[in-house]
Amino acid sequence: MRAVVIGAGIVGLTTGLALRRAGFEVVICERAPEIRAAGASLGLWANALAVFDDLGVGEQVRNIGAPTEMHFHDPAGSLLDTPGYGPEDHQYLLVHRAKLNDLLADAVGRDNIRLSSGFTAYEEHADHVTVHLSDAVSLDADVLVGADGAHSAVRAQLVPGAAAQKHAGHYSWRAVIPDAAGTVTEDRLILGTNGSRGGYVRTHDGSVYWLVNQFNSPSPMGSSKQEALERIVHLEDGGRDGTMARLIAATPEERVLHHQVMLVPPLPHWASRRVVLAGDAAHAMSPHITAGATLGIEDAALLGHLLGAGRDVPAALAAYETVQIPHYAHVARLSAAVEHAPAPQEFARHYVAFSHWMITRQQPTMRPSH
Ligand SMILES: Cc1cc2nc3c(=O)[nH]c(=O)nc-3n(C[C@H](O)[C@H](O)[C@H](O)COP(=O)(O)OP(=O)(O)OC[C@H]3O[C@@H](n4cnc5c(N)ncnc54)[C@H](O)[C@@H]3O)c2cc1C
Repeated sequence: MRAVVIGAGIVGLTTGLALRRAGFEVVICERAPEIRAAGASLGLWANALAVFDDLGVGEQVRNIGAPTEMHFHDPAGSLLDTPGYGPEDHQYLLVHRAKLNDLLADAVGRDNIRLSSGFTAYEEHADHVTVHLSDAVSLDADVLVGADGAHSAVRAQLVPGAAAQKHAGHYSWRAVIPDAAGTVTEDRLILGTNGSRGGYVRTHDGSVYWLVNQFNSPSPMGSSKQEALERIVHLEDGGRDGTMARLIAATPEERVLHHQVMLVPPLPHWASRRVVLAGDAAHAMSPHITAGATLGIEDAALLGHLLGAGRDVPAALAAYETVQIPHYAHVARLSAAVEHAPAPQEFARHYVAFSHWMITRQQPTMRPSH
């Protein structure tokens, strides 16, 4: 059995690994000339780490990560309490995105990845799918997985009219910078006024990841650094200790990643008989829950589980869609509760309710597969 996976991002690579383990010959097609990831950090929660353990790379992933805790403060520096939840509900692993993708590419096997090979279209037949690629090659496969991100071309063909949409007024700025002198001695995430969130977290290799997000924000007009610096007035009450401003000021302009947040609308279907979506291609969501990749890693595990279970491909993809559509409707409800929290205290409590649910519910590979 052969699977073609489009996209060598975190979800495509994890899907490749899961399908190889399920006995598939896998070809991952990536349109970029190299394996890469925007150079900021990524929080992985316990549910994603359990998948990596299952796929045999958990220890390697932990070796490139810093165990961290998600606690929110208000702009005056007070901890926002979340009664009823334990330390494990706050714990995640902060990893460097590019290092994670490199590690996963090695685990999948570089020979199984075609670079500079962009998906253009597919043709579905009764017993196979033909995948057309930009490098004038066509591949036949038993299943095609679209893990090609929020602007997925596979989704454009599978679910026409479901283009990614701007999360109006929601912008993010972030960067990872070295801190060789160890000037940052704590991690701090702040829920500010005017829909702002941000803070800084130390990474495993002595760098610092800083981020600034804002809902309902005016369109950015200035440079990324200027805009990030303007937003932090909502995070630090009178410039609490100036750490945010210092970190942003020390970041070269070209290292600041600035995004208009994009969302994929709820999809009426995620699969046909031989084509299926995973990761942001299926459910790009607002980063205020910092879990899009974590949840996408579960998509990969579920696909591996269902396609490896001996049933035929159309039945496995139908089972995947049956589980995933209501699952992500629930994620969307929990995410909306966080987003629309009227005050930082409620935001913090809805957030930990979400993380608690995400890490304690049954893993996808344990969910019913009928
Ligand atoms: C500001 C911000 C912070 C976030 N923080 C977190 C966090 O802390 N924790 C977390 O779990 N999630 C987080 N997320 C979400 C996370 O970044 C995404 O959910 C995740 O990166 C999606 O991975 P993916 O592999 O599905 O897509 P992508 O990472 O977008 O990968 C898609 C790949 O497909 C390739 N591609 C695209 N089109 C084609 C084509 N036609 N042919 C071939 N290849 C193609 C691309 O080049 C790319 O390599 C955050 C998101 C944002 C915006």
